[in-house]
Amino acid sequence: METQYQELINKLNPKYLKLNEPLALHTTVGIGGPADIWYEAQSTPEFIEVINLARRLQIPVTILGRGSNVLISDEGIRGLVIKNGSKNIIIGQEVPIKETEELEEEMERIEYRWASDNQKGTFKYEFKDLDYDESNQPRIEVKIDSGVDMAFAINFLITKGITGLQWYARIPGNMGGWIYNNVHGGTHFINELVKSVDVLSDNGAVVTLKASDLNFGYDKSRFHNSNEVILSVTLNLFRGDKEKAKYVALEWAKRKAIQPHRSTGSVFKNISKDDQIRLNYPTASIGYIIEHVIKFTGFKIGDAGVSKAHHGFIENFGKATAKDYISVIREIQKAVYKANGLKLHPEIFLLGFKKEEISDII
Ligand SMILES: Cc1cc2nc3c(=O)[nH]c(=O)nc-3n(C[C@H](O)[C@H](O)[C@H](O)COP(=O)(O)OP(=O)(O)OC[C@H]3O[C@@H](n4cnc5c(N)ncnc54)[C@H](O)[C@@H]3O)c2cc1C
Repeated sequence: METQYQELINKLNPKYLKLNEPLALHTTVGIGGPADIWYEAQSTPEFIEVINLARRLQIPVTILGRGSNVLISDEGIRGLVIKNGSKNIIIGQEVPIKETEELEEEMERIEYRWASDNQKGTFKYEFKDLDYDESNQPRIEVKIDSGVDMAFAINFLITKGITGLQWYARIPGNMGGWIYNNVHGGTHFINELVKSVDVLSDNGAVVTLKASDLNFGYDKSRFHNSNEVILSVTLNLFRGDKEKAKYVALEWAKRKAIQPHRSTGSVFKNISKDDQIRLNYPTASIGYIIEHVIKFTGFKIGDAGVSKAHHGFIENFGKATAKDYISVIREIQKAVYKANGLKLHPEIFLLGFKKEEISDII
């Protein structure tokens, strides 16, 4: 493997290459051991070339976006960890009105599970008052590279009078990561806007996939079960009300600001509607169960603990390790199972772990 590593390293631009790079520096939660080889490609063609070369050399490849939905092992990740640093946003043509209607018809609607408990507890923010329908506005195509930071994209596009992403303000992540897990803001899912995705397939070819090929669901896309790499995404956005979208984005971001950033987002999938009704809970939110059912406010192992601002988040309060983080997940699962018989499932991505370290929690 050493010769293969060397062959890959020789081909990389030393300016953007780091060996044994701590991945904690590349995740919002600030946890993660070293990557053997860390590389930030500067363009999509370079991203493709490096991944294809590593694959040819049989070096394992892991893609990272903003690192906001992952927990990386303390041992780090073997092989190449690569990020797309390409940041193009290409504004295209307005979509003819007939096609707009077809898009609305074809769009897969996913039942949202977002729920607040605005009666009691810490999870008090509400978004419903900000929601509105833009479907009668003209559409416009925008192609966004997977490496684009979406906080930047939202602001950039709104200033150009292009709307549709305002519901996702203050959700960290890059375009690639957003598609990988079908990011959701309140009642909206990003799949509502996706026209197509350019991917690097397993055999090294670039292929354009239509939205209907992407198997989008709640926290789900075809990319969970494929080796494809997301290169760029074409969204059908709106020539909507710029001032309204700007207001919603700012207000949305303000309300979301209470969520702790040094985290991986919501750790567990919400419970199903059926379980919520059966258990007579006011919400399907895991935060409610952690705060009010198992009463884990303040629960901590090492520096990893339940966030007091939002009980569905596990925060790194200092120098938490992945081991601490996993132990908190495990203790929450055990307590919830004891209280109501439900097995909670993590919705974050666990990278670099040995099977036996995590088999009981996934
Ligand atoms: C404070 C906070 C708030 C959050 N709020 C929300 C929210 O409201 N709604 C929501 O849905 N999520 C939320 N999240 C979770 C997270 O922001 C999203 O899941 C986001 O989509 C992750 O994007 P990323 O670029 O950080 O992906 P990463 O965490 O870097 O990667 C996630 C997965 O995607 C894969 N991946 C990334 N890029 C590519 C690519 N180009 N090709 C193939 N695979 C790729 C990675 O290998 C990994 O398995 C929140 C997280 C935090 C920390």
